[in-house]
Amino acid sequence: MRKHEVWMWWLNSGCQCCVFTLPRGSPGVMDVLPISEQSSSLVVNYAPFTLLPSVVPSTIFEQAYAVQQDFNLLVDAISQNAEFLERTLASTIKVDNFTAHLFKIYKQVLKEGLAQSVFLGINRSDYMVDHGADGTPALKQIEINTIAASFGGLTSRTTAVHRHILNVLGKSKEASKLLDNNPCQGIALGIAKAWELYGSARAVVVFLVADTERNIFDQRCIENELWTRNIRVIRRRFEDVFEKASLDNDRRLYMEGQEVAVVYYREGYMPENYNKQNWEARLLIERSKAVKCPDIATQLAGTKKVQQELSQPGVMEKLLPSRAEAVARIRATFTGLYSLDMGEEGAKMVAMAIADPERYVLKPQREGGGNNLYGKELKQLLEKIKDSPERSSYILMDKITPQTSMNYLLRAHSPLKISECISELGFFGVYIRQGKDIVVNKHVGHLLRTKAVEHADGGVAAGVAVLDTPYVI
Ligand code: ADP
Ligand code: MG
Repeated sequence: MRKHEVWMWWLNSGCQCCVFTLPRGSPGVMDVLPISEQSSSLVVNYAPFTLLPSVVPSTIFEQAYAVQQDFNLLVDAISQNAEFLERTLASTIKVDNFTAHLFKIYKQVLKEGLAQSVFLGINRSDYMVDHGADGTPALKQIEINTIAASFGGLTSRTTAVHRHILNVLGKSKEASKLLDNNPCQGIALGIAKAWELYGSARAVVVFLVADTERNIFDQRCIENELWTRNIRVIRRRFEDVFEKASLDNDRRLYMEGQEVAVVYYREGYMPENYNKQNWEARLLIERSKAVKCPDIATQLAGTKKVQQELSQPGVMEKLLPSRAEAVARIRATFTGLYSLDMGEEGAKMVAMAIADPERYVLKPQREGGGNNLYGKELKQLLEKIKDSPERSSYILMDKITPQTSMNYLLRAHSPLKISECISELGFFGVYIRQGKDIVVNKHVGHLLRTKAVEHADGGVAAGVAVLDTPYVI
């Protein structure tokens, strides 16, 4: 039988129900299971986390908090701007099949006319703290995740774990300074509000999930919050949608006979999630009246190409007219982002990156970690594709260099050793638009992930980063 590792928090007497699953087949992992469960396909381990919280300067934390509602508005504005999306992604979709497929569905849905009138965005903007030559810390955005932004569930438990550790260490004063954090509740409240605005008491929320779900209990935390509000949640795959979903004449979405108010995607952000039938299922959902979180336009708004285009002078000003302060707050978080589109400007940037590869990160239009190129690999790839339109499927970004700190990264079956680490801070945002009116615009919590400095790329899912808690001073 195929084994799946399951990660779980244990805190004091109660299981905190933080679980994360990974396909796993290594011998010995069954050791952690009680005898009665030896035939189970689940192998229980704790979720990886730092022994101690990591310091985040308060100015940085407050800046990231303050800009989140601006980012919510920006993403929402992009999702409604067909001209912007079409122009920005024009070169990318010629060479990147995955983005092209998403874009094709987007165009198809626009052509038919949107049936959906309530829009729900749940995003997470990620940052690192750049330490420039003069040592001043600066908040710099890594990316914004507009689909399947994860760890809102698990991280709602990490503060309690770190408080406990600090208390055990006799550091109760420090323990009391850790900020409360419950993105799980904020995300669930967003879904609940969208469900309510959809306006059908019998309708369900569908969590659209993978066949082999790698992060199930992160999702269950949110699901449980919805059940406590008497909102029914069902978990289904694209395959299920293809086989058992349909639209009625008003384009209401029905799944196994039940009307669907909200589809919350925790799947569908990478090419591997799709085959022909899954693409058809995606199109069916997008054509429907159900609230999609996100709708396909909002997913496209989260592409790296869009992020790069936003950094161009005047672009955000057009997207958010009469919001000069919001634009300034957003722009302050940008580091250098460069287009590699065909033409003189792109060629110049390719040459710069080949000459000094350590200064940059090369990013394709992918999500989920492990896709970016650095250093020698970046140089080799650019040398290969420098004269080909393929280069427009990537963007180039200045590499951010955070200050390191020492911590223990605790993972089941890993030896305990101190590591030199860097951290990535994320803020969760939730917004709802009804027709043209924004009815909810919130920041709902944060996430800190920490990894050993030798890993250039990769998050918690990739087995590189671990969950952390900011110690804000
Ligand atoms: P993904 O969509 O795959 O998560 P990201 O843009 O978040 O892509 O990049 C993945 C990881 O690579 C980040 O979590 C971060 O550790 C690292 N990274 C990305 N951009 C930069 C950058 N500009 N400077 C330093 N590290 C970066
Ligand atoms: Mg990322």
